[in-house]
Amino acid sequence: MPENPRGALRRTPVLAGNWKMNKGPLATRSFFDDFCARHGARDDRSIWFFPPAIAVYTAVHALRQRPDIDVGVQNIHWERAGAFTGETSAGMAAEAGARIVLVGHSERRHVFGETDEQAARKVAAALAEDLDVLVCVGETLEEREGGRLEQVLARQIDAALGEARDAMLRFAVAYEPVWAIGTGVNATPADAAAAHAFLRQRIARAANATIAAEVPILYGGSVTPDNAADLLAAADVDGLLVGGASLKPDAFAAIAATPGRG
Ligand code: PEP
Repeated sequence: MPENPRGALRRTPVLAGNWKMNKGPLATRSFFDDFCARHGARDDRSIWFFPPAIAVYTAVHALRQRPDIDVGVQNIHWERAGAFTGETSAGMAAEAGARIVLVGHSERRHVFGETDEQAARKVAAALAEDLDVLVCVGETLEEREGGRLEQVLARQIDAALGEARDAMLRFAVAYEPVWAIGTGVNATPADAAAAHAFLRQRIARAANATIAAEVPILYGGSVTPDNAADLLAAADVDGLLVGGASLKPDAFAAIAATPGRG
């Protein structure tokens, strides 16, 4: 396993913000001026931000005095370089100071048609550059109502795990039901706990129970300062991946202060 300069990813709690296609470099700088004044460094949690690729270097620079906060990219291409207009490679992300790659977000899968196989190739590319990965999985409402929740989660996680078996200390998962993303309807803590327990079993099957017990599994989907504590208190929920509410420094600072299970 290649050495990870940061050591293994930690469970409990990880509070992560996915900005999607919001905030360029100027808005990124002013966000961190505000957020950092609200959120002091704490060693009992991990804070990750995923700004748009064009603002990653600015975010890294704005956070140079804050080693407690990590910056990641929302997407990469699996190739190292070449004629792929509009794309960013894992190596370029690492050069900009990113430490983590978000892979397989539902918008990548459902808006841009990303397949499990492509997501797996991105996992491999990120790990090859010593970047951590946060792999997103989740079912649509139709799949859930059709009784296919476990089938879909198994297919998505197994594809990603196939590329990560030798680097599990750098592997994290986000359970993000598609019907909960950006809708204002979050999964119940019980539903999140059940899905997370299933995902952890799947990781144990691919690796082993000891490794599976170390992998952070985050919940994402309409997390707000009001529901964060209940979701983070659920069994097997090690963190939160937050979209809309991560765009506001006050809202995300409140989420970042959510007590862990203790
Ligand atoms: C997301 O983008 O990963 C997400 C969970 O979005 P939201 O919090 O807005 O539902």
